[in-house]
Amino acid sequence: MTDFLQKMYQKQNISEEVYNYCSEIEKNLIDRFNHVDEIAEYNQLKVLSAMRENRVSDIHFAATTGYGYNDLGRDTLESVYASVFNAEAALVRPQLISGTHALTIALSANLRPGDEILSPVGKPYDTLEEVIGIRETNGSLKEYGITYRQVDMLEDGSIDYEGIKKAINDNTKLISIQRSKGYDTRPTLSVDIIGEIISFVKSINSDLICMVDNCYGEFVEKIEPTDLGADMIVGSLIKNPGGGLAPIGGYIVGKEACIENCAVRLTAPGLGKEIGATLGLNQQFFQGLFMSPQIVAGALKGAIFAANVFEKLGYEVIPDSTESRHDIIQAINLGSPEAIIAFCQGIQAAAPVDSFVTPEPWDMPGYDSEVIMAAGAFVQGSSIELSADAPIKPPYTVFFQGGLSWHHAKFGIMTALQKMIDNKSITLK
Ligand SMILES: *Cc1c(COP(=O)(O)O)cnc(C)c1O
Repeated sequence: MTDFLQKMYQKQNISEEVYNYCSEIEKNLIDRFNHVDEIAEYNQLKVLSAMRENRVSDIHFAATTGYGYNDLGRDTLESVYASVFNAEAALVRPQLISGTHALTIALSANLRPGDEILSPVGKPYDTLEEVIGIRETNGSLKEYGITYRQVDMLEDGSIDYEGIKKAINDNTKLISIQRSKGYDTRPTLSVDIIGEIISFVKSINSDLICMVDNCYGEFVEKIEPTDLGADMIVGSLIKNPGGGLAPIGGYIVGKEACIENCAVRLTAPGLGKEIGATLGLNQQFFQGLFMSPQIVAGALKGAIFAANVFEKLGYEVIPDSTESRHDIIQAINLGSPEAIIAFCQGIQAAAPVDSFVTPEPWDMPGYDSEVIMAAGAFVQGSSIELSADAPIKPPYTVFFQGGLSWHHAKFGIMTALQKMIDNKSITLK
């Protein structure tokens, strides 16, 4: 590391001890980072090849309005997504407002009264509890006569295949597999394990629809769940595949018949994919997808760096400092309210937007404790941008993810560490 770099960090209030400690950590991560870059390179070529194959052109960036008939850009973008994910069809729309909305469409479009959903990997992401009706809510799938069953993962984090076999019955229609642990403590699933689950349930009944909640997982590995038999994968464009450029949107990619169901559910029966204006957003969608493999690599380096910085200071980090990665989320058990507040304030202070704001814990609706959130993002709620949040309750875990560049993620983590030292919740050994 050169002198001028250290001076620059000093100007940003990073002390010499933090700089030196973090530089040492970074030096030891060269092999990990090379591996991340290799995956990014592979995925960059995959995305490029899909764009070239589908003859993406300037004309596809033109805006449509109103009904959005004959939106060439939208149709081409959907073909590109289908190619990238090795699938038959795709629905990629600004009208899919969020990941939760895309998942709601995928589920409600492919289920009918009397059908049952099975989650073979335990409880789904919080917002899905209301969608499914695990927590009773106005408009839930439960109100439409759709039932739900789950099989938890075993103590050691492995899949309970015996339990899955027992849970599948005549009503089971759709298997819902969440790739990322989200803000839970179970391990994130590798695409290979997802593939094994799919093969297993298809061997019991080949008509079962296998849907994967792919949020936070895109481009972390060389393959995606659709490469291993998933009928539908679902995600948000303000996470990985939007590359930080998409200002809104979601995607559903998979089998033609499933996607057609989703299209008529999103718009209207009889209209399907033919309508839905893109209002000038196509260029950001294409460019975001093009950038995504590199952006995901930066976020992954940040997560690996943080795991190493904090594990060596004695904190429990999930995944740990050496584990292979299957999503971009990093959890760190910081052990005290003061420490998580300082961490989040550091992430906020290092942000390009709203760096001057100091986040404080608050009683957020839907949570059983106070929560602190740091997000200095260009796009509201974007979690491919560097962001962190933590419920103020034991074991005082902060979840953080994203970073549109590795260097920003690194600076955010260094600032978080500095704030923890400044408020005396930690000392460097
Ligand atoms: C973020 C996320 C969702 C929901 O996406 P939103 O865009 O926040 O609605 C669903 N599942 C998982 C695993 C997620 O990480």
